[in-house]
Amino acid sequence: MTEDANNLSCAEFQARLPELIGSGENLAADPHLRSCELCRALLADLMTIAEAARQLFPIVEPPDRLWEQIESAIRNEEGGSGPR
Ligand SMILES: [Zn+2]
Repeated sequence: MTEDANNLSCAEFQARLPELIGSGENLAADPHLRSCELCRALLADLMTIAEAARQLFPIVEPPDRLWEQIESAIRNEEGGSGPR
């Protein structure tokens, strides 16, 4: 894996993702997203999962809880086999 030293690391960026999404900011303009295909793909996945989660968990919950569920769903999906 390569990391651009001039940029946020993917881990740092991904840690901020829920916040960025929750804030309703224009993610397309984010400098990291513009330069990082990996995180663009991840964001697309997150949006798909978030959309599915809204349908799976129709009960209104605090966003923090929702993101916990999404994050654990991602971890389950990846199964810890092979870094991406
Ligand atoms: Zn990235």
